[in-house]
Amino acid sequence: TTSTSDISRKKSAELFEKAKAYFPGGVNSPVRAFKSVYGTPLFIERGDKAHLWDADGNEFIDYCCSWGPLILGHNNEEIREAVQAQLGKGLSFGAPTALENQLAELILNNNKKIEKIRFVSSGTEAVMSAIRLARGYTKRDKIVKFEGCYHGHSDSLLVKAGSGLVTFGETSSAGVPQAFADETIVIALNDKKALEQVFADFPGQIAAVIIEGVPANNGLLIQDKDYIHFLRDITKTNGSLLIFDEVITGFRLGFEGASKYYDIQPDILTYGKIIGGGMPVGAYGASHEIMGSISPDGAVYQAGTLSGNPVAMAAGIAALSILARPGFYEGLEKTTQAFVEELRAYIAEKNYELNISTIGSIFWFAFSSNANIQRADEIDPTSMEKYKVMHRELLNRGIYFGPSGYEVGFISAAHTEEDLKTTLTAIKAALDLVFQ
Ligand code: PMP
Repeated sequence: TTSTSDISRKKSAELFEKAKAYFPGGVNSPVRAFKSVYGTPLFIERGDKAHLWDADGNEFIDYCCSWGPLILGHNNEEIREAVQAQLGKGLSFGAPTALENQLAELILNNNKKIEKIRFVSSGTEAVMSAIRLARGYTKRDKIVKFEGCYHGHSDSLLVKAGSGLVTFGETSSAGVPQAFADETIVIALNDKKALEQVFADFPGQIAAVIIEGVPANNGLLIQDKDYIHFLRDITKTNGSLLIFDEVITGFRLGFEGASKYYDIQPDILTYGKIIGGGMPVGAYGASHEIMGSISPDGAVYQAGTLSGNPVAMAAGIAALSILARPGFYEGLEKTTQAFVEELRAYIAEKNYELNISTIGSIFWFAFSSNANIQRADEIDPTSMEKYKVMHRELLNRGIYFGPSGYEVGFISAAHTEEDLKTTLTAIKAALDLVFQ
């Protein structure tokens, strides 16, 4: 098998050269720089349904979906019309609007895991606020996070594991004071002993344990139900809060996200991505009691000029109204399962060393013989070379995946049967190239 010839990136390359003079690394968010894969990042000009067009006129079927928000694809008509209707009325007031109530009602009526919500403008802000809330509510300082979970770029969470079962974190970014990292303990996923150890080592000091609903930022590390129930129980027993970061899984696995999948009640939940329908929105929510600690009711301060922005609210209302229709999630999940099953059958037939993990409408290429990777350290970093080859070949064949093998793929309701069929043909050919 030989690779197909590379697509033209002439315009993207010119734009990237200019961008490098304006932005660090030429981008406004690091992974966009395509450092882990071949070539210049593609500058995107427009999207429609499941398709993207770049500055050179190349067309792609998109499985990055803006990193998850676009569960309805690009340029959804109902979202677009809702945004357009709001545009003539003003872009921001910094005052309450009925739109915030409407989006809150849509969420709270369909998601019994939270009783009260606060809108913010990004996932990072949602998680940062949830951590402060947990600390303010419990009057404790330490938090526990897991190696392999990403929660945005606030100081407390840019911390990675040191060596040992239970360790104080080491900062994973320059500029994060060690004193912050000292308040964050990092342990491995799917390890009950580490959890027991952490509560034994720091009695009465842990404000919260934070975990991604289903860890999906470092591969797709689907945890056992039994483990998540253990996590729920041990946090409760020790008076610590459980924060479920559902920025990816919220409204992706259903309105009640991973909490429903695992059938648990976390204490604080964080959301982002899908609830803004493609506009910048994040949110966090909890019981009336816990949310009572938030300003102006309580002593935990959290604010935002653009929080509950009317255009973003209008987009979110339109998006969630569609998702709330009966059968929406079942349909999307069925489509994804059929797609993954066909890939799995091909992989089995060819005996390729690759497994596809999947949940809801999320899937991940695990270039490993391990069919059930659940911890970050089970991922072989050298396997990323295979992803790189596949990624390049797929771009050449008009299929757009996230520019790193640690990223998951998303299927949207806008992906047609034909899109998926074209994609399967392309992936099979790309895999033949990877494993030749
Ligand atoms: N939490 C999780 C689970 C995420 O996946 C992300 C972003 N990928 C964030 C938090 C941060 O969200 P944002 O990029 O909107 O700040």
